[in-house]
Amino acid sequence: MKKKVRFFQSVNFKIALAFILILLISIEIIGAYFIRGLERNTIKNFTDNIKDQATRVAPEFTNDITLENSEEATGEELTDIQRRLENSVSTDILEMRVVDANGILLGATPLTDKSLIGKKNDYQDINDLTYVAKTAYDETTQKRVYIVVQPIQSATGDTVIGALFMKSDIENRYEEIHDTALIFVFASLIAGAISIIVAVLVSRSITQPIVEMREQAVRIARGDYSRRVTVYGRDELGQLATTFNQLGDRIAETQDAMESERNRLDSVLSHMTDGVIATDRRGKVITINEMALTLLNVKREEVIGESILELLAIDEDYTLRKLLENPDEMLIERENPYRGFVILRTDFSMIRRESGFISGLVAVMHDVTEQEKTEQERRDFVSNVSHELRTPLTSMRSYIEALSDGAWQDEEVAPNFLKVTLDETDRMIRMINDLLDLSRMDSGKAVMQLEYVNFNELVSFVLDRFDMIVDNQDSGKKYRIRRDFTKRDLWAEVDTDKIIQVVDNIMNNAIKYSPDGGTITVRLSETHNNIVLSITDQGLGIPKKDLARVFDRFYRVDKARARKQGGTGLGLAISKEVMKAHGGNIWVESQEGRGSTFYITLPYEPYEEDWWE
Ligand code: ADP
Repeated sequence: MKKKVRFFQSVNFKIALAFILILLISIEIIGAYFIRGLERNTIKNFTDNIKDQATRVAPEFTNDITLENSEEATGEELTDIQRRLENSVSTDILEMRVVDANGILLGATPLTDKSLIGKKNDYQDINDLTYVAKTAYDETTQKRVYIVVQPIQSATGDTVIGALFMKSDIENRYEEIHDTALIFVFASLIAGAISIIVAVLVSRSITQPIVEMREQAVRIARGDYSRRVTVYGRDELGQLATTFNQLGDRIAETQDAMESERNRLDSVLSHMTDGVIATDRRGKVITINEMALTLLNVKREEVIGESILELLAIDEDYTLRKLLENPDEMLIERENPYRGFVILRTDFSMIRRESGFISGLVAVMHDVTEQEKTEQERRDFVSNVSHELRTPLTSMRSYIEALSDGAWQDEEVAPNFLKVTLDETDRMIRMINDLLDLSRMDSGKAVMQLEYVNFNELVSFVLDRFDMIVDNQDSGKKYRIRRDFTKRDLWAEVDTDKIIQVVDNIMNNAIKYSPDGGTITVRLSETHNNIVLSITDQGLGIPKKDLARVFDRFYRVDKARARKQGGTGLGLAISKEVMKAHGGNIWVESQEGRGSTFYITLPYEPYEEDWWE
């Protein structure tokens, strides 16, 4: 996250650079003015001086030239001119020449070649005999020189009789100025170097706190609030550092508050008995609580980021837009390997910001499987009861109608019809009694008459009665009841009447649904903490698909046969309720066509053998 600032991009560098630039620019401007002024002054002084000399020296030759031009010239004059010239040479003068009006050289210093005297002068500048003052470039020495040509006037001052030529060394002056400029450049370089050091130090003192604050900001962003920025002084940067530390404290506090808020929310969510799913604006899951994971039987890492429509498998019927526009409740059915078939009532609501912007969707799921099942059972029950009562009533009505239409007079038919109506009435009474029993148990009004009994004896008592019926029966069916009892006496606290009713019912069924007779085996055994009674017949058996449902109210595998047998379809339902009330259990194992085994268990605490002793 931390990106290294390169030196050339740093504030440090920029401040130093600004410093140095300001310094250099000012030095340059001052230097330029200074050097230029110096140059102008020096050169002016020099040329003025040379020009002065020329005007001063020139008139001295007037006499000699006048004489030289006259008839009585002796030749002495030439030597005078030469001597005068040599005397006039000063330090800066490189060369001097004197010519007459015809441009004949009269004298020169230094005089390198004597034979030139008296010949036509070869210096172009002089030959016009006009005043010249200029800087020129000397080809031979490759230096700048200052040339002055001063016309020499006649004594009367009305004619020009010759000219004085003066060449002086101005290069020296320029070199002096150059040297001064060099000193200046040197001085400014040293000043620049010093100012770099000063600038770096000054800017470092400014940027150091900034760098520290930046590092602190990075730490805060990482969530490390433990360190603080050093406050170096009371200046603006010091104040900024103080504010920075306060800001850090604030953020830490806010962070803490948010953290605990989130923890609270998390624990509320995870302890909720409802499933909660929250999505972002696009319907992708961002939060899902434990309960929702359990209800939907999914793993968190699989569903985060998944579309809620796909997660709830409603993407065929709904679009996100439809959900957002009409966030209503719906029932979602899911197959759950741990809970079986579950029905989830799901309420959707939008997450809206204050601005009205929809930022997501929340789905709250509640497992209503039980409720829905109960509701369905209640509906089924009412329709079953009505149906069960209507059938016997309709058949009774037709018998009674036939009787009242005259059949009562028929001595053969009438008793038969009356018997049928009586049987149907009995069955209806039995059914209503069963229903009342069930309703009492459902509402918890059935009072259990618990007593401590020897369970072996209780079962024996019921079976004895059946033995008697079997013996007295003169129908073709032949049964044998086989008892396979544990040696041990099993004592249990039960409601005797109700348990008898259960065993009776199972025994009755075993006989009813074994049209070919056979052996009914009654086994009584115990496990560590249960009494187990099993009744096995060799009858019709129960198809696998019906096994779980035979304990449902009014459920019969073969309705017509069961009704003919006088069954109400409530016997096993009552048995189940009775066993539940005793804290026991009832279930069935069966093979179609081979027979069924009904099991009942009761909780049992084996007493110590020496208890009675
Ligand atoms: P019912 O009064 O019709 O016998 P139950 O509740 O006692 O009502 O039994 C429900 C259904 O279970 C019966 O109609 C029958 O189809 C089936 N059933 C019960 N016991 C047996 C058994 N021993 N063998 C075969 N089917 C049985």
